[in-house]
Amino acid sequence: MSISVAIDGPAGAGKSTIANIIATKFNLMYINTGSMYRAVTLMSLRNNINYKDVNSVCDLTNSLDMYFKGESLIVNGEDVSEEIRSIEVSNNVSNYAAIPEVREILVKLQQDIANKYDVIMDGRDIGTVVLKNSPLKFFLTASAEERAKRRYEELKEKCIVVEYNNILNDILKRDYIDSNREVNPLRKAHDAIEIDSSKLSIDDVISVISGYIEDYMKNQI
Ligand code: C5P
Repeated sequence: MSISVAIDGPAGAGKSTIANIIATKFNLMYINTGSMYRAVTLMSLRNNINYKDVNSVCDLTNSLDMYFKGESLIVNGEDVSEEIRSIEVSNNVSNYAAIPEVREILVKLQQDIANKYDVIMDGRDIGTVVLKNSPLKFFLTASAEERAKRRYEELKEKCIVVEYNNILNDILKRDYIDSNREVNPLRKAHDAIEIDSSKLSIDDVISVISGYIEDYMKNQI
C-alpha cells in the first residue's frame, strides 16, 4: 500500500515540526518543499542572479543536483540546510518561488520522489498541485501574530536577536506574495482538512492528523 500525505499552510504554521514527527511515526519520507525553493534562492543570491532574470534562474535551477539526506538538503554536494534558513533567503524566497518555470521544475522533482516513496510533503501547493490525488491533505493555519511569536521565540532560543515587528512584517509580506502569485498560489485544497493550530499544542495537532492517517490505513486493509 503506498501512501502520501500533504500538508500546506502559511509560513510559521508549524508544518515542518508536525510533518517531521508524523514522518517518524508512520515511517514516511519527509520532503520539505520550501527548502527546495530556498535552495534555488540561496544559489541565485550567491551567483548574483536577480529573480527578474528568469532565464538565468531557470538555467541555474536545472543545473542543481538536489537531494535530501535525512533532514539535510544537499545541493551540488554541499549541505545547505543551515544557510537556506538565513534571513536573507527568507526575505527573498517568495520572489523566486513565484517564477512559473522554477515551479514547474521543482514540482516535477517532488512528484518523481512521491512516485517512488511513501512521503509526507509540506509546502504551499502540495494538496492543490503536487499531490493533488492524495486522500490525506491537511491545511495548517495560525494567526500571523501567533506565527511571528513562535518564530521570535525560536530565534531567541538560538540567541539570534531580531525585532518581533520585523518578523511579523516578513511573515505578512510572504503570506501576501505566496497567496497572490499567478501560478500555484497558497490555497487550501477543497478536500483538505483545515486545522487552526493557534490554540492547539503540537501533540494535539499530531493526534488529529494521526487519527486521519490511521483511519485511512485501516480502510485500505
Ligand atoms: O516552507 P517555507 O516557509 O520554508 O517556504 C519558503 C517559501 O518557499 C515560501 O514562503 C514560498 O514562497 C515558497 N514555497 C512555495 N511552494 C511550496 C513551498 C514553499 O512557493 N510548495
